[in-house]
Amino acid sequence: VGRCEVEELPLVECKSQPEEPCFNWSVFWCFLRPHLLALGTAIVLALGSALVNVQIPLLLGQFVEIVGKYTHDHLGNFMMEARSLGLHLLTLYTVQGVLTFGYLVLLSRLGERIAKDIRQQLFGCLLRQDIGFFDTKKTGQLVARLTADVQEFKSSFKLVISQGLRSCTQMAGCLVSLSVLSPRLTVILLMVTPALVGAGSLLGALLRKLSRQAQEQISKATGVADEALGNVRTVRAFAMEPQEEQHYGEELEKSCELSEKLGRGIAIFQGLSNIALNCMVLGTLFIGGTLVAGQELSGGDLMSFLVASQTVQRSMANLSVLFGQVVRGLSAGARVFEYMAVIPDIPLQGGHCIPHTELQGAVSFHNVCFSYPSRPGFPVLKNFNLRLPPGKIVALVGLSGGGKSTVAALLERFYDPTEGTVCLDGQDLRNLDPSWLRGEVIGFISQEPVLFGTTIMENIRLGKLDASDEEVYAAAQEANAHNFICSFPEGYDTVVGERGVTLSGGQKQRLAIARALIKQPKVLILDEATSALDGESERVVQEALDRASSGRTVLVIAHRLSTVRAAHQIVVMSKGCIKEIGTHSELMRRGGLYAELVRSQTLMPPGYKNYN
Ligand code: ADP
Repeated sequence: VGRCEVEELPLVECKSQPEEPCFNWSVFWCFLRPHLLALGTAIVLALGSALVNVQIPLLLGQFVEIVGKYTHDHLGNFMMEARSLGLHLLTLYTVQGVLTFGYLVLLSRLGERIAKDIRQQLFGCLLRQDIGFFDTKKTGQLVARLTADVQEFKSSFKLVISQGLRSCTQMAGCLVSLSVLSPRLTVILLMVTPALVGAGSLLGALLRKLSRQAQEQISKATGVADEALGNVRTVRAFAMEPQEEQHYGEELEKSCELSEKLGRGIAIFQGLSNIALNCMVLGTLFIGGTLVAGQELSGGDLMSFLVASQTVQRSMANLSVLFGQVVRGLSAGARVFEYMAVIPDIPLQGGHCIPHTELQGAVSFHNVCFSYPSRPGFPVLKNFNLRLPPGKIVALVGLSGGGKSTVAALLERFYDPTEGTVCLDGQDLRNLDPSWLRGEVIGFISQEPVLFGTTIMENIRLGKLDASDEEVYAAAQEANAHNFICSFPEGYDTVVGERGVTLSGGQKQRLAIARALIKQPKVLILDEATSALDGESERVVQEALDRASSGRTVLVIAHRLSTVRAAHQIVVMSKGCIKEIGTHSELMRRGGLYAELVRSQTLMPPGYKNYN
């Protein structure tokens, strides 16, 4: 309920969002270090392959010389003369092939390993972040860092090592061969090629920008379809089909136009680059031919020159594409590594545990003030004081947005109070081990239970990983769930969640209760646990909750006041403060806010909720 209002107020993160993170070289180095040997070998192999590539044009030139010789005088045996050179070339081709195979295999292995390590560590880092961190981030963006960004970074890394090294080495080697073959031709080539490659890169950058825009437009169109299909019931209920179709059609049209523009751009680019490259060959043949005619160059050398100059052009073009890729790879890498350096304020583990035998389950809030980290200037709890005596049920009621769920969140230590303390058996939660607190002391049951896509058995066992089957059955019985589980053909092995059997709200809630009860928690938080259920399910779930509440310290947050009548104490909250406190009859007698709430609810149809 609170979330709807959150959207309206600016969150802190929005202001600082545009800043692009910087690439963290030291984190990257940590991932790279274990693979240095493989990386070194890959680099050596790539260099070797490039050097072999430099040799090939020279040998091809020699081959052409031999062919040329046999075109005018047919003396001697061509096969004899050509064989050794042919064999030499064949050997070089093979060596080049093997080296290429070697470094590509090594690089792909290396890239995949590093990507896996990065993903694993990033996932761990994300899972450990404070709940406040997730308040300001969209899940989709976080997942994109794990998937698309890691992928982009990995491809760029691999490309830089394979293409980058090869292109640089080949370019350098071929330039040396060129200048040995013909310094004059090389000078001319060196003036023309960079200009052409520069122009090509410029056009290429424009095309990439266009391609990005086209991609974005496609995702925008997909987003429209996704939203409409995902919310098809709402679309149907409002008879919004024609609007949605039109909306999708408009976005598609825009995307179509952009893609067509991109297609035209690519066509122009291809056409122009074909003309340019062919003209280069023609030019080289012309100028080289003049040199050959003037006896300054042999025909074979001209052939070598041609092949080598093509290699230089290809390498330069590769490097210019690579440059763009490096920029993209670095920014993807920066996004990937950004959250690895964020240390959560509330660690998952560490701190004191109270021995089981001494644990009472008394909770107290002392002068607690609290604002959400995402909205620092907006106090949600103001000087809040409350005691939850061991084994007693305390209910929090009041209008929506009053801060009830926030009290539960502080007890779970999802957040630390801005001021004041929350204590368990007199000890500040900040000194207690959070995993122990959440894993063994507190059972939390919320309005919308989340089940994971696995068997019922595993879902219940999530509450206590080392629980025996018997413990699972006992917890299910306590939660009124055993009977309906046994009515499924596969019983406790029934798969639930997104990919499994669809359960009713009440059934899901009872599984969630079993999951919370299996750890035998001393403290139970029920955050509107029955408010999403219809009357009949509510009765069964409430029965399970009543049974589960006995002997435990229970904090109930409730909309429907009828469910909290039996509580030992009812606390009425409004705007982050306690307005009234007492038992049902005391509060009714007082005739204050609680009595008014009860009156308004009895007048309202069942299921109506108080939203302010
Ligand atoms: P209740 O449970 O009584 O309905 P909540 O504790 O959910 O009230 O909310 C109290 C206030 O805190 C509301 O104004 C709500 O907008 C705000 N709030 C709740 N959750 C968050 C959050 N994660 N980030 C920022 N503000 C929040």
